[in-house]
Amino acid sequence: MSIKEFSAEVALAAHTQLGEGPVWDEREQRLFFVDIVGQRVHSFRPDTGAHHSFDVACPVGAVVLREDGGLVLAAHDAFLVADADGLNVEPFGTFRADGAVVRFNDGKVDPRGRFCAGTMDWGGSLPIGSLYMLQPDGTVSVLLDEVTVSNGLAWTADGTTMYYIDSRQRAVDAFKFDLETGALSDRRTVAEFVGMSPDGMAIDVEGCLWVACWDGARVDRIDPANGRRLAAVHLPTSRVSSVAFGGPRLNDLYITTARHKAEDALLAPEPDAGDLFVAQPGVSGPPAFRFRYG
Ligand code: ZN
Repeated sequence: MSIKEFSAEVALAAHTQLGEGPVWDEREQRLFFVDIVGQRVHSFRPDTGAHHSFDVACPVGAVVLREDGGLVLAAHDAFLVADADGLNVEPFGTFRADGAVVRFNDGKVDPRGRFCAGTMDWGGSLPIGSLYMLQPDGTVSVLLDEVTVSNGLAWTADGTTMYYIDSRQRAVDAFKFDLETGALSDRRTVAEFVGMSPDGMAIDVEGCLWVACWDGARVDRIDPANGRRLAAVHLPTSRVSSVAFGGPRLNDLYITTARHKAEDALLAPEPDAGDLFVAQPGVSGPPAFRFRYG
């Protein structure tokens, strides 16, 4: 079966160490993303080219939008809130992960306005991470344990299925998602990867998944109904970390990449490693959910 092939171009020479977690702010027409290793949150307005970033002073795994316009961060071992311009960064709630052995990684707001964020083993090999759910009142519950590298999250349009990636499993899994409680059940694998690790992902309006392939130099579009690969976006750099739909019509696919841990020999032919890319894949995505804060 032939698949559709797309290419991506540099949208912003961001030079991140480990670019991750893009999320489109449709109100302000800008993309937020993090540099986990660089410990910064970036924002980029494609229409003006305006690029800003602010220092979080610890490894920041994910940034999400709030209903009131600010941000929530999953940073090292805790949740933080910040103004959209990066001012007034402060702790939110009392939750702490064991930051000596894990750190926060990817996260996303769910259809009910709660922040789901997971942790990963610092070494990336032990199943000591968890997937958490942060409520608007600051309390935190555990959705899933025994996670090694918690990564991509996406929900179907009706909110009753959650797709999830533990990169160490090299698979995209699906769960039945209880919208009231967030409880996960009926885990099943919908797609497996060979020779690369699935990382971040986004869902499009047709219900298909766009999965960033770490060490794969591409983003795959997968039909979760049968696991088939329908399309691929090719990049000139191997460490492809995450994706988000953005732009005025939500049909631009923004793609983060990394130069982290790449050998100099590997980086030599990859001058764009760590930059932000964009592709036009011919389909749009839903707007991001916002955390119901305050
Ligand atoms: Zn990731």
